[in-house]
Amino acid sequence: MGHPRAPAAGMAPPRETAQRVHDYGHLVRRWRRIARGAGLRLEEFARQDEFPVFCVRTKGDPMEGGLYVSAGIHGDEPAGPEALAQWAEAHLATHARDLSAPSLFLLPCLNPWGLVNNRRSDHKGRDLNRVFDRRLSPLAELRRLLDGCRFDLALHLHEDYDAQGAYLYEVHTGAARWGAGLLRACTSRSLPVETRRRIDGWRFRDGLLAQRIDLGAVPGQPEAVHLLRHHAPHVCTFETPSEFGLVRRVRAHVRFVSACLKQLKRLETKKGAKTGF
Ligand SMILES: [Zn+2]
Repeated sequence: MGHPRAPAAGMAPPRETAQRVHDYGHLVRRWRRIARGAGLRLEEFARQDEFPVFCVRTKGDPMEGGLYVSAGIHGDEPAGPEALAQWAEAHLATHARDLSAPSLFLLPCLNPWGLVNNRRSDHKGRDLNRVFDRRLSPLAELRRLLDGCRFDLALHLHEDYDAQGAYLYEVHTGAARWGAGLLRACTSRSLPVETRRRIDGWRFRDGLLAQRIDLGAVPGQPEAVHLLRHHAPHVCTFETPSEFGLVRRVRAHVRFVSACLKQLKRLETKKGAKTGF
């Protein structure tokens, strides 16, 4: 989740950001193509200031099982939205046609104003990942959309200006611990693993939150806590180091999403074996 620090204003973007990662109109056009190619709808479910906010669902409403992925709740963390779009460009059409694949609930960018303005907060200065339970757009509309949904896993894509490597908060109510394997899958050829032992007050080991989280002690109302309380027994918040090159950060996020899906497919296969399908 990182600290509320933004790069200095007026700083020239590095060459790698020539991919227009803060151009929301471009991101939406890409998602329209992605959704069309996969035979799915890009659904506008809310507006934030003048920006439409979208989701893509591969199965009906309410969703039972599968994966929830959200990106871009912090606008100055562009690797998440870029990676989710890249993952979907490469895989969503095939995934959507595979009837045995886990269902998906994708949020390409939860804070478009922040993305466009390279700010962590929304247009009124609020950190949306600290007020997830409040009655404000697009969070209130999203909570309504999630009503009755139960996912196997919820995934939140973030970045951190203080990090020197990738790391993961993995919280669950009894599901398998996948964290170490997931981190290995996405860092081995992309990024180092964070070595700090304490991040935002939480104790980490080898880039993984190695402490049981007391939900009551979590400050504010983060998206991850809301998902864990109401919609998923297993929640992962993946963070990449903002000061590293964008291409490497995006690659790590793409691999993280793929690794999560691989684990979910294994889980489905196991469930299928048990029930004889
Ligand atoms: Zn963040």
